[in-house]
Amino acid sequence: MTAATALTQAFDAAAVRADFPILQQEVNGHPLIYLDNAATTQKPNAVIDAITDYYRNDNANVHRGAHALSDRATQKFEAAREAVAAFLNSPSSRQVIWVRGVTEAVNLVANTWGRSELREGDRVLLPYLEHHSDIVPWQMVCAETGSSVEPIPVLESGDIDLDALDSMLDERVKMVALNHVSNALGTVNPVQQIIGKAKAVGAKVFIDGAQAVAHWPLDVQALGCDFYAFSGHKLFGPTGIGALWGREELLDAMPPFLGGGEMIETVSFSGTTFNTLPFKFEAGTPNIAGVIGLGAAIDYVQSLDRAAAAAHEQDLLEYTLALAADIDGLSRVGHPREAVGIYSFLLAGCHPSDVGMLLDQQGIAVRTGHHCAQPLMAHYGVPGTARASYTIYNTREDVDALMAGIRKAKALFG
Ligand SMILES: *Cc1c(COP(=O)(O)O)cnc(C)c1O
Repeated sequence: MTAATALTQAFDAAAVRADFPILQQEVNGHPLIYLDNAATTQKPNAVIDAITDYYRNDNANVHRGAHALSDRATQKFEAAREAVAAFLNSPSSRQVIWVRGVTEAVNLVANTWGRSELREGDRVLLPYLEHHSDIVPWQMVCAETGSSVEPIPVLESGDIDLDALDSMLDERVKMVALNHVSNALGTVNPVQQIIGKAKAVGAKVFIDGAQAVAHWPLDVQALGCDFYAFSGHKLFGPTGIGALWGREELLDAMPPFLGGGEMIETVSFSGTTFNTLPFKFEAGTPNIAGVIGLGAAIDYVQSLDRAAAAAHEQDLLEYTLALAADIDGLSRVGHPREAVGIYSFLLAGCHPSDVGMLLDQQGIAVRTGHHCAQPLMAHYGVPGTARASYTIYNTREDVDALMAGIRKAKALFG
């Protein structure tokens, strides 16, 4: 981290900020300070332009038309798949399946791999840190297959309890599913280590990369996971599009998820045969504009100095923690060993939703509530938190404004 911190000066957040038109506005009479990036990120001009350009010039259905527009749309659509494959360091773009986001990716794997592989008595392990989208689809499939979903304990710090995980792992564990980074606390989970432990008992591993993709380069081959998923909208891309990556032999063996056009090879009433990867999992007309927008988002991210960007975000977190230490009654929820730029906090005497409302009156956008992680909130015995989450276009001035806003809330309520 020290070497990376030295690079902080090299990262020009002001220049990045100018790429995001939505940030140049006032909210409630104050310049907008957008600190809700873990919920969704804003979109740069490059993404907005790629989407409008597609609709203005190339709009057609993909993979079927015998005409110029369809050829262009198909080329852009498949170029984005290649971009995602390169972004994840996938051996092949056949392993990249378009989905609506992480939620659909988990549902796809739970309903195809899970439904065909899980047997009575099998176990699926998920840390207490999980997002509801990682928990609920497994609960639904496990209830039907007679297998069980079991929580992996989390330490007071917000780190996964690796000793507890060791004691839970046995050959009945068929799946370990977890987020790469917690959206509620910012915890960076030691996924490489956990994948190694899971593999040692023959379990498969699903990594939810929703909060990781925007922060550092990824390499699914080096990680050694079986599935990896992310949502475009947390990576400066559009909503309603994301990618599921899987090991080719697993994806090949899995039954289809949704049935319809595109995912078939031949259809007859005596039987239907299915298309090859990746199309087997892509029934119906896809979100073409979303895919093209996501491709543009990946090109945008790849054009940044990612090490400098990560150091910049780390600086914002450290700066936040330093300033927060001077405010009585302000406390951080969790203190993970390693975290991205997410600051989940409580202000004594002031309900998180009131903190959020008072900050909004000052033009500052944060999220409040359980962050789709109710088991984790129960673990800490809190109904929810207020959460500021930073990304490439945030600055130390944004942090100053947040702290001034918190002081104001404290003066009113504290
Ligand atoms: C946002 C998020 C999800 C869900 O993503 P969707 O885009 O809503 O499908 C899952 N896991 C984590 C860690 C998230 O941050």
